Amino acid sequence: MISAQWVTMRPSEINFREKVLSVTFGMLSDKSLKAHMGQSMSESKKKGKGVIFDINGFRASILSWYWQKGRDLPWRVKGGAPADPYAVWLSEIIMQQTTIPMGTPYFLKFISLWPTLADLADAPLDAILKHWAGLGYYARARNLHACARHVMAHHGGRFPETLEGLKALPGIGPYTASAIHAICHQKPATVVDGNVERVMSRIFAVSDPLPKSKKILIQYAEKLSVGRTDHPGDYAQGMMDLGAMICTPRLPKCGLCPVSGHCLARAQNIAEQLPMKSPKIVKPKKQGYVYWIKNKHGQILYETRPPKGLFGGMAGLPTSEWVSESDSMTHPDILKGQKIIVHPGRHVRHVFTHFELTLIPCEITWKGLVPSHLKSVDRQNVAELGLATLFQKVTKVMK
Ligand code: SF4
Repeated sequence: MISAQWVTMRPSEINFREKVLSVTFGMLSDKSLKAHMGQSMSESKKKGKGVIFDINGFRASILSWYWQKGRDLPWRVKGGAPADPYAVWLSEIIMQQTTIPMGTPYFLKFISLWPTLADLADAPLDAILKHWAGLGYYARARNLHACARHVMAHHGGRFPETLEGLKALPGIGPYTASAIHAICHQKPATVVDGNVERVMSRIFAVSDPLPKSKKILIQYAEKLSVGRTDHPGDYAQGMMDLGAMICTPRLPKCGLCPVSGHCLARAQNIAEQLPMKSPKIVKPKKQGYVYWIKNKHGQILYETRPPKGLFGGMAGLPTSEWVSESDSMTHPDILKGQKIIVHPGRHVRHVFTHFELTLIPCEITWKGLVPSHLKSVDRQNVAELGLATLFQKVTKVMK
């Protein structure tokens, strides 16, 4: 546990200096650090000064490390040159809910299919959804398409050069807008993803738990980036890489860290305990049936899901209504008269943002006229439909 003595300091309690300084946290032993901080805090009350933080030294260390050790990624241009906004935007949207190793093949596929923003804007939405399959969060894919079309129609195919203009685009939140602004436009911007949150929580030993502490972590990040024109894009990417490669959630490699001399958590030996997290909220559980239906030719029947809602507009296997685990499941009326073989042992589980779902597969060989909303596909071509991961799991258990 973190000692109660180490309460979170607010950015206002630290004297952020940009000019040459002789004192950083790391030059003090744990004991003298505590004494120094205690002294500084009381001095701060008298003199209006606080614990000192060397912004220039911190940024210089991040930049130098990034230029030597930062990751080479397909959408990156190192050395301060502006990157291609289309590639950066695409990579940021794809990587939002996945890791770089998982997301990079998707990025490469998208960029080879649609090399420019204009190509992506011209592509049919179902082609984008099909190639997005497996990444989840399909609203992102729809926003990706909407954003490409919007930039083509209203901005002449160029991403706006202001933060406000970027934030106004479909599917672009404060983080992605700041990333594009810093990396592509080389403008000062505070870029805070999960990696940067972790680094900030450790550098400043923020013991308030996430997500409550997000605001203060952003304030710290702002202190280090607002108004800074010294390679804002490389600094932002350096911070992301530091969190991904060195300041990792478990076993941070403090011995290799370029900013260990600035790190309060290291000085206090509490790095691995940070960031603290609030206890997880238990997600509600839902259940339903999913139907593996064959027509008289042995082809699999599927549907196009309604445009709004989960997997909107995508190909999917028919399902019953999804109900709470305490409610009983029923088959839809459309299946009346069909012979349904239920396979409870082949159930699949899937975790969504707000709930967990268990689907029980049911096998049907359709008797009579097939409803017009169901389409057919040969079994060996089911993978070509671009089914969402949930339904891909079903196709695997129904081999
Ligand atoms: S010294 Fe350790 S805890 Fe601190 S920023 Fe570096 S890697 Fe993270």
